[in-house]
Amino acid sequence: MKSVRPIILAHGGAGSRAMTSPQAACLRAALQVGYHLLDRGSSALIAVEHTIRVLERSGLFNAGKGSRLQLDGAQRMDASIMEGDSLRAGAVASIEGIIHPIIAARLVMEETEHVLLVGPLATKFAAYFKMERHRLRTPALRLSYGAMLKRKRPKRERHGTVGAVALDRTGTVAAGASTGGIDRMLPGRVGDTPIIGCGVYADNETGAVSMTGWGESIIRLAVAKEICDRIAQGTTPATAARLVLKKLVARINGSAGCLILIPNGQFTIRHTTPHMMAGWWDGKGEPVVNDTFKH
Ligand code: ASP
Repeated sequence: MKSVRPIILAHGGAGSRAMTSPQAACLRAALQVGYHLLDRGSSALIAVEHTIRVLERSGLFNAGKGSRLQLDGAQRMDASIMEGDSLRAGAVASIEGIIHPIIAARLVMEETEHVLLVGPLATKFAAYFKMERHRLRTPALRLSYGAMLKRKRPKRERHGTVGAVALDRTGTVAAGASTGGIDRMLPGRVGDTPIIGCGVYADNETGAVSMTGWGESIIRLAVAKEICDRIAQGTTPATAARLVLKKLVARINGSAGCLILIPNGQFTIRHTTPHMMAGWWDGKGEPVVNDTFKH
């Protein structure tokens, strides 16, 4: 059996804010958890899930415990996970009251014949599997629907969605992401994160992609799949990222950041925003974590 050098990449969102030192420490810890799993022979899928769990549990990012509120005051979260060998995928959207939407996404993939569960029935699914709950202690906001519709996205957005991509010893890649959404969302809004081919994609014949940024723009270009399609045509990860993000900005004034990792171990981290909190580790030296990458 072939043995490939494993590697893991993770992100904590792309936006206008620089990374704080607790966020940097948490990303480093998440990369260590993911890499040690890969080093001991775990699959890329398990490494991605466990890396994302660390970030969801921290409350330092817009995912899991730290998820942003929708305009009615509720936290509704989206997550997805995919592995590149058999192209299996699972996702949840608008799920409430749990710490780890990424586990719910994996359970959808492994325990059902479906890819995506949504809303209160996704929450019920998580309850069936006795997933750890998280009670939000903020009062419900009472804006009229008309007032909610008038709320515009702020110019300087706060981000913090989390995600990861990994390559395991067998040469399989996986990708995942988990988010609390964007600022000033209408209740029920779902972004790119749980939509396979938009926020996440993984295929051993091309690579693994995890996106962050303004979800509506990422959906409209099906960015993760577009990146993989370009890699299939022979483009390097760095060039695919540059060309697709350029198109995102030029065609629809979008904004995003991406992690891309291909089965030969080549990878790239790129963003159109001033910052992207991200990092990688292949077991050599210390994990590399930064909030600005080539863009
Ligand atoms: N892409 C996420 C969404 O639109 C947000 C983010 O990445 O910060 O829901």
